[in-house]
Amino acid sequence: MSNDTTTSGLTFDIQVSPRRRTPQEREAILESPGFGKVFTDHMVTIRYSEEKGWYDARLEPYGPLSLDPATSVLHYAQEIFEGLKAYRHPDGSIAAFRPEANAARFNRSAVRMAMPELPEDLFIGAIETLLAHEADWVPVKPDMSLYLRPFMISTDVGMGVNRPSGTYLFVLIASPSEAYFASGVKPVTVWLSEDYTRAVRGGTGEAKFGGNYAASFLAQAQAVEKGCDQVVWLDAVEHRWVEEMGGMNLFFVFGSGADARLLTPELTGTLLPGVTRDSLLKLAPELGIPVEEGRISTDQWREAAVGGELTEVFACGTAAVITPVSHVKSTRGGFQIGDGQPGPVTMRLREELVALQYGTRPDNHGWVRTF
Ligand code: PMP
Repeated sequence: MSNDTTTSGLTFDIQVSPRRRTPQEREAILESPGFGKVFTDHMVTIRYSEEKGWYDARLEPYGPLSLDPATSVLHYAQEIFEGLKAYRHPDGSIAAFRPEANAARFNRSAVRMAMPELPEDLFIGAIETLLAHEADWVPVKPDMSLYLRPFMISTDVGMGVNRPSGTYLFVLIASPSEAYFASGVKPVTVWLSEDYTRAVRGGTGEAKFGGNYAASFLAQAQAVEKGCDQVVWLDAVEHRWVEEMGGMNLFFVFGSGADARLLTPELTGTLLPGVTRDSLLKLAPELGIPVEEGRISTDQWREAAVGGELTEVFACGTAAVITPVSHVKSTRGGFQIGDGQPGPVTMRLREELVALQYGTRPDNHGWVRTF
């Protein structure tokens, strides 16, 4: 079957068959989908060339991409991606949380990697087109969502390395997902990585660039070897200033009760500017919790935790929302945050964010976009 729909100035060619799975198979998957393991029946693709700009937008059956072995992305890694979720609201509608922020970050990543920007309305139009045909894949169960993964790869064929590719492919795929950490809000233990560096000033740290993740796996494996769940990245020069945790940004809670205040590492060009981080910077003060962007060293972290001024630490990101950090380990030994249990500020912020995303709290920020 094929019919067209015009979105965002480009016509999406809609090819919805064959579906890979029967409704019964889909329902069985939605019982327990895991995270990022299974993908829906369709995907969106849009091509780019220097001559034509963005063209050939289509919704097509999900399936393998065919690439010449000399395709530039396979050698020089021009690849960027995004991650956001579609949530089922109580009235049955489907909504995404701040997708415009993901579109904007996608384009900042594109600029850094010398790739073409995708107009925001096309980014949103791709999501709209996919969701219009995959609505049944958006889980209804609490804590579940449809994870959306837009990405772009360079597709020029050839080994020339003096200039970026002139052609690109944008793809949007989707994966029904349950909680990212199988343990739910169980606190994590982190390893302060002194052997490896995620990002340097002037590098690619603030881009959602595939290579950043390739470079992180060894450090994450080391963290696991040290008995930790996640790696914490430090600055590249002094190995002293805290940056972020794996694929999440960090927040530090000082004091408690009415005196609680938050600190999150400032954006220095080496951190990924998280949409969740940005949302918390706005949300926390509205709940009476002041928040500051600044610096915290590993020594300050240890001293404040041991001294008791630091009461909670949590990480935040789209996939796992908010995850408490309970223990820290490094070459200098370990220490615990508070009583090692999820703290009240952590849980309060988590609840607020989740309620907004799942539509059980009114959205006063214009953050929720219904599709
Ligand atoms: N840091 C890194 C390195 C990440 O990959 C992510 C996930 N995108 C985040 C932080 C959190 O960003 P967001 O809140 O936009 O998911």
